[in-house]
Amino acid sequence: MNQHAKLRIGHSACPHDCPSTCALEVELLDNNRIGRVHGAKANSYTAGVVCAKVARYADRVHHPDRLLKPLVRSGSKGEGGWKESSWEAALDLVAEKFIAAEETYGSETVWPYFYAGTMGLVQRDGIERLRHAKKYSGFFGSICTNLAWTGWMMGAGALRGPDPREMAKSDCVVIWGTNAVVTQVNVMTHATRARKERGARIVVVDIYDNATMKQADLGLVLKPGTDGALACAVMHVLFRDGFADRAYLEKYTDDPRGLEEHLRTRTPEWAATITGLTVSEIETFAHLVGTTKKTYFRLGYGFARQRNGSVNMHAASCIAAVTGAWQYEGGGAFHSNSGIFKLNQDVLEGTAMRDPKVRYLDHSRIGPVLTGAEDSLYGGPPVTAMLIQNTNPANVAPEQRLVRKGFLREDLFTCVHEQFMTDTAKLADVVLPATMFLEHDDIYKGGGNQHITLGPKLIEPPEGRAPTTMSMRSSESGWASATGRASA
Ligand code: SF4
Repeated sequence: MNQHAKLRIGHSACPHDCPSTCALEVELLDNNRIGRVHGAKANSYTAGVVCAKVARYADRVHHPDRLLKPLVRSGSKGEGGWKESSWEAALDLVAEKFIAAEETYGSETVWPYFYAGTMGLVQRDGIERLRHAKKYSGFFGSICTNLAWTGWMMGAGALRGPDPREMAKSDCVVIWGTNAVVTQVNVMTHATRARKERGARIVVVDIYDNATMKQADLGLVLKPGTDGALACAVMHVLFRDGFADRAYLEKYTDDPRGLEEHLRTRTPEWAATITGLTVSEIETFAHLVGTTKKTYFRLGYGFARQRNGSVNMHAASCIAAVTGAWQYEGGGAFHSNSGIFKLNQDVLEGTAMRDPKVRYLDHSRIGPVLTGAEDSLYGGPPVTAMLIQNTNPANVAPEQRLVRKGFLREDLFTCVHEQFMTDTAKLADVVLPATMFLEHDDIYKGGGNQHITLGPKLIEPPEGRAPTTMSMRSSESGWASATGRASA
């Protein structure tokens, strides 16, 4: 038997915060090591393709800089002095600090802070169970999806759209606000199939000449935050030049005449001064989508990166309603399928223990929260203890000087559960090593497709045995998955 024939393949899902949620085939070299990671051919959305970074995931899983032991700060905050600890001692310290904080200020002084470092439902959302049980402050996730989802919901009313595999049946695919070549390769798989098989045009709208733009038949580079102006001018042209599907608008939309009136002054000339595009580019785009009924608008999270993102998303999502593209297979608009999954997470999140009186603190306001801004604390106590999972706010949250200043407070105790020594972990009091997705069980739902994929544990975490629970009586060494569930 040759080497290739012996290769075992494990099945999983990509855990990254990426709408593709690729189904994976992982080369298992032994019980501890993986080789290349491939896209699952049998999954009709993944279609055998994954992005380059996940194909080389072995580099991350087996990276020498992975955290291996619990660490307790030994020097001043943020200065890098650490001593290794047993799990038992580290977890006892965290529990003691949380209890002491709670006794001084009440339970809302503890703020579990987490996001989408893994999209596994168990490892991402299980922390909610702890916070509900203990009545710790809630976490309102506002950085990534909120503006885009709000804008989408204002128009479509539900977080769903035509099956993204329908892009392969489109005559025009508009990739707007997402650099799909780099961040969700499957969009390109289906869009380029439409181009090859049907001669479909690919339009890319973004704020810089990115890798996806280079694949476009028509690329529109506009100024940040001006998408709504472009969308309004496109709809102006659609009404003006007879491309609006008035029968569809009358049947399925609430105020088509009001919209037309509103758009009367939103000319291409008006939009050109705002967007930086030429009048000709705007007219060309409008005529293309107006004459191509099977146009699929793939609207990405770029809309969430500006303060006016909700109105921009709303405007862009309305174009497909004006053309009536929704009626045709391969046409319509899509942002996320997150609304189609009706999984009951009550047990996972401990919602029966939820106290609605407990405050929610804003994800993106962590800087003001940690530096005591009263409006961000909603009249409640200061935050004096945190458990951080699956996110790195010292790098990704706004107002980073405030964030860092907050983490350096002597009266703040911070525990970070991480895979590597991130900039946030460097500011912590206790750092706990976390498993990676191939080292624990989880389940994933696809925001950019409609699959639910199981990601079972495929390999052992490095260095010794894993604890069976992340409890006060955990093993002396090893690892904890994000919820403290068994990783063995
Ligand atoms: S394209 Fe997205 S979901 Fe697919 S492997 Fe890459 S990061 Fe993961």
